[in-house]
Order: sequence, then C-alpha cells, then structure tokens
Amino acid sequence: MRAPVFSERRLVHNEENSVQENPSIAPKNITAPEITQHSSAAGAPPESRAAKMIREIFESGRPLTYIRSAEEQRVGILLREVARSLRAGAAIPVWEWTLTEGMRKDGETAITGTDSPRAALDFISAYPSQAIFQLKDFHETLRESAETRRRLRDVYESAAGRSKYVVISSPVRFIPEEIERSVMFVELRPPDAVELVAFLRGETGETDEAVLHQLARALLGLTLDEARYALRRALAVSPRLGTDSLPALLEEKRLLVNRSGYIEYVSDGARLEEIGGLETLKKWLLERRKLFELRDTLSAELVPKGLLMMGIPGCGKSLSVKAIASYFQLPLYRVDMIEIFSGRHGKPEGAFVQACRMMEDMAPAVLWFDEIEMGITSSDSGGEQGRIFAFFLTWMQEKTRGLFVAATANRIDLLPAEMIRKGRFDEVFFVDLPLDEERVSIFRIHLQRRGVDADRLNLGQLAKLTNGWTGAEIEQCVVSALTQARLADREVSDQDLISVAVRIVPLSRTMKEQINHIRSWAFERAVRASPHSTGT
Ligand code: ATP
Repeated sequence: MRAPVFSERRLVHNEENSVQENPSIAPKNITAPEITQHSSAAGAPPESRAAKMIREIFESGRPLTYIRSAEEQRVGILLREVARSLRAGAAIPVWEWTLTEGMRKDGETAITGTDSPRAALDFISAYPSQAIFQLKDFHETLRESAETRRRLRDVYESAAGRSKYVVISSPVRFIPEEIERSVMFVELRPPDAVELVAFLRGETGETDEAVLHQLARALLGLTLDEARYALRRALAVSPRLGTDSLPALLEEKRLLVNRSGYIEYVSDGARLEEIGGLETLKKWLLERRKLFELRDTLSAELVPKGLLMMGIPGCGKSLSVKAIASYFQLPLYRVDMIEIFSGRHGKPEGAFVQACRMMEDMAPAVLWFDEIEMGITSSDSGGEQGRIFAFFLTWMQEKTRGLFVAATANRIDLLPAEMIRKGRFDEVFFVDLPLDEERVSIFRIHLQRRGVDADRLNLGQLAKLTNGWTGAEIEQCVVSALTQARLADREVSDQDLISVAVRIVPLSRTMKEQINHIRSWAFERAVRASPHSTGT
C-alpha cells in the first residue's frame, strides 16, 4: 500500500501545490515537479500527472474530492483511468450525475428518480460496493440547499473507508464552510505529455510513438478542448499527422497563448550561426544544452536554470534568446513586463504569478523575460515590485526543471544586486559592442542572408570604418546599401556600403556616457559574452 502523500490537515491541494486559486505572491507554496511519466504498475501504460494525483487522493482514503476544472469531459476520462488503476483486474464503476439526467453509468440509461441532488446522494449512500461518483456542477445545489449540504456530510461518513469516492467537478470553486474540512480541493492543471499522447492516440488512431510524442510536446500548456481545436486545424492542413502538422499546431497554440495579452509565443527563431561573435556565450550554451537535456537524471543544482543577458541595445541580446530556443529545440515564450505592469490584466503581481504558472504548464520551453528591469527593480522593496522580485527569486529556485529562463536587460543599474548574485541565474552575460572580427562576421551574416556573396567585398575595411557600431546598425547599413544598389539596378558594392556607413552616426557616439556607464557597471558583475574588449 502506497503511503498517502497528503497531509490530513491540508485540505487544499492541486497537482503542484501551487497557487492557481488565488494567484497572490506565495512562493513557499510553489513546487513544480517535472512532467514525467509515472507508471502505476510494471508493464501498465504510463500514468499522467493528473491521474496519479487523483489516484493518490483516493488511496489516502478520502471519500470526497472537489475538482475545479472547466474540462468536465476530461475529468470523466481521468476518473475512468483511475478506476482501472485502483484495483488489479476489473475497473471499479464510474457513475456520473447531472441535474438534467440523474445518475448513470457508462453507456447505460440513467437510474429513474435520481435527478434531484438529494436522490443522487441517497443513491450513493445506499450503493453496496466500490465506485466513483462524478457529480457535475453540484456547487449550485451546495450553495442553495442546506438539505444537500447536510446529506453530503452523511455521505462523507457512510462512504469513508468503503472505497466509495465522490467527486464534485465544477468550473468554479464553491465549498460551503461546514464541509470545507471534509473535502479535498483539487485544481486541475492542463494535461501533461502522457495525457496528451493518450488523447492524440484516441483522436487520430496514430500509432507512431515518435510522432505522438512530438505532437504532444507541441500541445503542452493547452487544455484538451484547445488541443482538439489545434489538432483539427493541423488535420485540415495535412490529413496525415507528422512533422508537417507541427506548424499548424504551433500556430493555434500561438493564438491561444497570445490571448493572455502578456505572454507571447515567439515563432521567428534564429540559429546560433546567425549570431556574429559572442563566442563565449555560444560555448557556454553548448555545454548547458548537454546538461539541460540530461535534466531528469541530474541533481537539481546541475540543471541549468537560465541566464541573464545585459548590455548595449542592438548588440544581439534578443537574437541570442531566439537562438537559444532553437538550439535547445524548445518553443520560446516572451513575458512582456510592460504589459504586466499596464494594469490591463489585474494586479501586476497576480498577472506575474499567473504568467509564471502558465509557463510551468508549457514546459519544456525557454521563457524570455524581456526588459526584466521594467518589472523587477530594487527601488520599491516593500511594494508591489518588491513582492514580485521576492517571488521571482524563489520561483527561479523552485520552478520546473524543464523551463530555461532567459532574461534580458538594458538598464542594468536598475536591477537589484540580489538578482545578479551568483546562483540566481547560472550566468550573467554582458553583451558589449562587437569587436573588429565580430563586425566582419555580422556584415557577412547580413549580406549572405540577403543573397549577397560577401567574399567579393572588403569586409575588413568596413569593420575598421564601423568601430563602435552595434549589430543592429551594421544590419541597417547593409539594408540601406542594398536598397541603394537595387534602385540603381546593380549589385551592391563596397562603395555602396561605405557611402552609407559614413552617414550613420552610431549610438556609441551619441550615447557615449551611458555606454561607458553600462560598461563600468558590468565590468565586475558580469561575464563578457565575447572573449576580448573592443577598446572603443
Ligand atoms: P534591444 O535591447 O534594443 O532589444 P538587443 O541587444 O536585444 O537590443 P537585437 O534585437 O538582438 O538587440 O538586435 C537587433 C538586430 O540587430 C537583430 O535582429 C540582428 O538582425 C542584428 N544584430 C545585432 N547583433 C547581432 C549579432 N551579433 N549578429 C548578427 N546580427 C546582429
């Protein structure tokens, strides 16, 4: 017999002991086990995170569970799965009750006279053997009827220890005070990969395990209903499931995620080879990827948590984050700190916690906090930003292993010292203006991306002319020179590039003081993303 995992005194539980019900800042409550496959018995199919949780509640002997979820059908599927795993041999029956139909078992007609809540509870009370009873939308009657509340307490007494499990499923939480201590409250999180694979198998009949897992991974973070829409969209594009279906699935996911308003699914990736320079950063990523892939087998302190990149605007921080996601072969989500603080999504701390939680459901993924200094500053230690900061630090330590955080900042001096301290992020990188040879490779990358053979141009000369330029300025120079050449109906030449270059006034000249300030600040606090100093 497995030991019950829930404290008897703790009546509110969800799959990850988190704060979904009230997304206030409560870092101590947040622990986030990885999405892993649980196996209920040797040789048995893998058990999903949600099924495991429900099974363990039942095995702890609790007769009354309240599952809050908008996915009523999914709750039914999970209960049937648990019913099969509770007892070796035959599954125990699962009964469903609704106010319109009364009590009925799979595929059978409803039992007459059980449509009133009182009659449903009487039926459960008198039921002679083990069973699971799903009561749909029972919260309304609990709210209105003292008789139902009383009868439910009787059922609790009579079902205890007799393997009869009553499950109230509802999209809202309403637990009357008098039964609060008797009910195990559960917040159902989106399905994990195990559940999604089973769903995809059932919906499509697909048998190729590799395809099923690949598609399930793309659907992580969606509810089953949302996953169904995404699947239909994918099947409309390509009737045979496979790698070709991924763009359609991801597009649906992008729309759904973007609905939040503060998290964006970033679909335009970049490859590491598209970054000019930043070799120290690239080497570091190479090593971290290996460790990240081994995350389920490594001890927690070895699993990469993420990195903080600060530096001069336009030098490739955002580009690098996109490249990290592609290199780790993970989807990329961007949290917009400005949106979070806009007030359009309720209290910023609630929105921030919600965003972090939502991302845990999406793992494995890269989570990008862009302009992190906009939300997490040291200036307001007692206020809202201070609380968000405290939450963020704890969350970084406790978040699921499948999330790699990439934070970027321009105004680094606004970030609290604790944020930069070793241990929060695996590394803090400073992205400086590109070196001579880095500028050559940035020119090369942008010319080649636009179909120009860079070997016929004198890039060394251009690099000398563009000392102190950012990567973005180099790109702008290439685009302007190409436009100039196209207008004149000829190939781009050194002369086009030079004539544009002499007209551009780089940021490092107009903002010399700020850049020097950023550099001197970063000198002792961060590792340079490029091996040497520019001397600019
Ligand atoms: P900001 O803080 O203003 O967002 P950033 O440091 O994130 O700036 P990016 O957005 O990554 O800079 O850079 C803008 C564009 O400049 C990139 O999309 C890319 O095209 C070009 N660029 C910048 N740095 C590099 C680089 N090292 N290699 C290749 N291209 C670069």
